[in-house]
Amino acid sequence: MKLGGKVAAVTGAGSGIGQAIAVLFASEGATVYALDIDETGLRETAAKAPYGARLYTQRLDVTQEEEVQKTWERIAAEHGRLDIVVNNAGVGVAATVDQTSLEDWERTMAVNLRGVFLGCKHAVRIMKRQGAGVIINTASVAGLVGVKERAAYCASKGGVIALTRAMAADHALDNIRINCICPGTVDSPWVGRILSNHPNPEEGRRAMAARQPIGRMGTPEEIAQAALFLAQPESSFVHGSALVIDGGLTAV
Ligand code: NAD
Repeated sequence: MKLGGKVAAVTGAGSGIGQAIAVLFASEGATVYALDIDETGLRETAAKAPYGARLYTQRLDVTQEEEVQKTWERIAAEHGRLDIVVNNAGVGVAATVDQTSLEDWERTMAVNLRGVFLGCKHAVRIMKRQGAGVIINTASVAGLVGVKERAAYCASKGGVIALTRAMAADHALDNIRINCICPGTVDSPWVGRILSNHPNPEEGRRAMAARQPIGRMGTPEEIAQAALFLAQPESSFVHGSALVIDGGLTAV
């Protein structure tokens, strides 16, 4: 049990990568709060957790400061601590900058960047108090390189990487380890939604797979393994990093 005794909160845990992280962390002995606005998805997450796992679900909108603060404080009060926070909830918009409406820009920034900011802000307060903690933010390769037709999304994920590094500089001596993960294309329900708008979904799927030099998309479970590595004390020297898990996408 790699996370036995730990208490973790995972946002965007009703689907895809967040669901895989919540289930893996619970399988590894953590008490996990799986949080999402999608309550149907959360029920699916709970059903995927192994028998006897301590996985609790709750509706949480990461863009709402009071909800985030109260949720983190309640978990910390109930368990005496909040060891690991994974700020993973995210939304995408497939558009070039001139095609991006202000509304889509604001929504992307609200979930992807403000949501991560709020999750970190209130986690750091608790973790400073308890003298330890781990924060993992889900960024993307889109925060490292330009991806076609993802202008707002790239900007939001670049912000997540920069915020992660800034916080790593500020809180290294507070014994809070802060990192982000940068997945390449991952075959989650998210990709399914993008492909459903594609004129030829099969061709779209092949093109998305071909973006990775290894010729396929990643799986949510592969990304969850990276989060597990960052959550464990064995990664104690990993701080302020943007861990790339992308099948080689950014290597070429
Ligand atoms: P997904 O759509 O399957 O899951 C995202 C989850 O976030 C959904 O369950 C959704 O309900 C939730 N969510 C959206 N807005 C929310 C809010 N305001 N509050 C709480 N939850 C909210 O997508 P995924 O592929 O699992 O993506 C998870 C994260 O990984 C995102 O941050 C995404 O940007 C990132 N990512 C995904 C890929 C990919 O190719 N799938 C690649 C790189 C990074």
